[in-house]
Amino acid sequence: MKRVHNFSAGPATLPLSVLEKVQNELIDYKEKGASIIEMSHRSPEYTEVNRQAVERVKEITGADDDWEVLFLQGGASSQFMMVAHNFLNMDRTANYIDTGTWSAKAIKEAKLFGNVHTSFSGKEGAYGHIPTNDELTFAEEAIYTHFTSNNTVAGTQFAAEPKSSSPLVCDASSDFLSHSLDLDKFGLIYAGAQKNVGPAGVTVVMIRKSFLEKQRSEAIPTILNYKTHVEKLFNTPPVFAVYILNYVLEWIQEKGGLSYFEKFSNEKSGLIYSEIDQDDFYRGTVEKEARSKMNITFRLPSEDLEKKFISEAASQNLMNLKGHRSVGGIRASIYNACEMDSVKALVDFMGEFRSKNG
Ligand code: PMP
Repeated sequence: MKRVHNFSAGPATLPLSVLEKVQNELIDYKEKGASIIEMSHRSPEYTEVNRQAVERVKEITGADDDWEVLFLQGGASSQFMMVAHNFLNMDRTANYIDTGTWSAKAIKEAKLFGNVHTSFSGKEGAYGHIPTNDELTFAEEAIYTHFTSNNTVAGTQFAAEPKSSSPLVCDASSDFLSHSLDLDKFGLIYAGAQKNVGPAGVTVVMIRKSFLEKQRSEAIPTILNYKTHVEKLFNTPPVFAVYILNYVLEWIQEKGGLSYFEKFSNEKSGLIYSEIDQDDFYRGTVEKEARSKMNITFRLPSEDLEKKFISEAASQNLMNLKGHRSVGGIRASIYNACEMDSVKALVDFMGEFRSKNG
């Protein structure tokens, strides 16, 4: 069996123990003579998987009974539209903090439904900056303030949630369950699972009941209405993705939860950033204060050297280090399931590559 050091931005590496569990259970789930993906989503077996997954998200985040946890389809991209469809109209305004490609996409969708006040835009600065609270402006009586907690493409991350008097709505796709959250400030959190918490195909949505009460009054198509999914399991969920997600959540709990992963991410990202900062051979692409602990982006002295770096890294099983196609350079994504061994192998390789080519 060969497992590479996988720095994919998503879908990303999963814990080996989870993959092995899934492999073991795939043909015959708990002696039922069928796999979980061959059973009804109303079966006792799947009902229990779903119940556990909801419970685990709540336990890990510390969410109380004011919170609902949903497992939806359509990716985080559908949430750009669904959030706005449920909460905005032409008489309402929401604040949006534009810190990257994905925030900009969320803004584009929101404008289809209501008024957007752009609290900050980092576009001019190539999205290398995360605003301080002093740099943010807010519309009065905005229904929510939307932000992207970790910007997967540029490689920036909010060190703390922005301060706003409106409930926060957060696209946490690329740092969900990697650090603790002050849930009191949030109305809704959504995250495509395929980076930190599971496979592609399911989006975790946490929604506060009191926030849901602020839903707009106009009709919303049934499947796009959060209340539909809060009331009951409305249609066939992505059963395989939720089933794997549930095991990743179990693994997160066994490891020690958010405090464990916060420390682990600090250690892993710290090693790579200190390698980058040794001299000017490697160059971080964003402001130091804005650096992401999940997606580490940097450049080399030339594009030719970057190509060489990626291909030599691949020959040593260090895979998926190419930056996003819109920005180029190198990106190492080190989500929860990326092991310290992989980070150390990358740092060693970076040191060797510098001494040969610097
Ligand atoms: N938001 C962020 C922060 C992302 O990184 C991504 C995917 N890379 C998306 C949204 C879009 O997610 P999906 O592909 O699940 O629609």
